[in-house]
Amino acid sequence: MLVLLKPGTPEAAAADVMTRLRMAGLAVHRTDHDGRARIAAVGDASAVDWAEVATWPGVDTTQKLARPFKLASRAFRPHDTVVQVGRCGIGGRQLAIMAGPCSVEGEAQAFAIAEAVAKSGATVLRGGAYKPRTSPYAFQGLGEEGLKILRRAADAHGLAVVSEVMDTQQVALLARYADILQIGARNMQNYSLLREVGHSTKPVMIKRGLSSTIEEWLLSAEHVMAQGNQQVILCERGIRTFETYTRNTLDLTAVPVVKELSHLPVIVDPSHGTGIRDKVAPMARAAIAAGADGLMIEVHNDPDHALSDGAQSLYPQQFDELVAQIRTIAEVLGRTV
Ligand code: PEP
Ligand code: MN
Repeated sequence: MLVLLKPGTPEAAAADVMTRLRMAGLAVHRTDHDGRARIAAVGDASAVDWAEVATWPGVDTTQKLARPFKLASRAFRPHDTVVQVGRCGIGGRQLAIMAGPCSVEGEAQAFAIAEAVAKSGATVLRGGAYKPRTSPYAFQGLGEEGLKILRRAADAHGLAVVSEVMDTQQVALLARYADILQIGARNMQNYSLLREVGHSTKPVMIKRGLSSTIEEWLLSAEHVMAQGNQQVILCERGIRTFETYTRNTLDLTAVPVVKELSHLPVIVDPSHGTGIRDKVAPMARAAIAAGADGLMIEVHNDPDHALSDGAQSLYPQQFDELVAQIRTIAEVLGRTV
């Protein structure tokens, strides 16, 4: 349920409403919008007499939050969430450009790519140190050594770091090196992992599951937010369909749909979304035109010899040209890079 307080309700009365809702066994979350407090009361709403709540001091109205996701819904928080990461506010006017290799492979590779993408205008360096690979015989990542390299390469070029956390036991370690904890598509419905990152103070980026509906994806965000971490970013990375020409089918419809349903920032990853290098730039341009808050792009200085996802990785020069085009599109939309 959503409990709307009257404008100018004294803090003591607002606190009292929240305490009484908690005593009824509900979890309460507050956001302020247009000078009034909005309280989401989640849990077993049937235990409460809502007509009576509407008579409590300070309460204006109560409304049902109809969607299964509550804290992630725009009905609860009407204004866009801006997740502050380094000098970039993800979800604000400035587009977030995240770029880097699929996997961190070594010092020279990470530093060369970090330098290139920073020069082109990226603000976040991506790179996997723990890799979810389909084959157990494929490169699994450099682990903590990879995280150290990624952090040093990012710091050398004023970039923030996003990297994937694959299981609950890695969360504290990832949080030491990364600015954003990435939940991979394969783990989107790993609820113990979502709960664990929900206790972290680091922003979390949730990639859409391979066969997940938008509602399931938003409910994954809800799992994180219900634990207290409201700094959630969503990343559309393509879904599995009957189409085999591309690696995945990049669902750009999800961008305006999620923007209506939720206040959370939405990033698009056209690298995994297409799997094909020369399809990355057109879909990146389309993603920004569709209203995405940023991009995550795989870039490699030597993609032919990349240890993972070389075929979908841009050359630094291609990435540079793409960012220039994104700047032009951003301007039309009243946004910046
Ligand atoms: C990645 O970003 O390298 C990755 C493994 O992505 P996804 O989880 O979307 O497949
Ligand atoms: Mn990859």
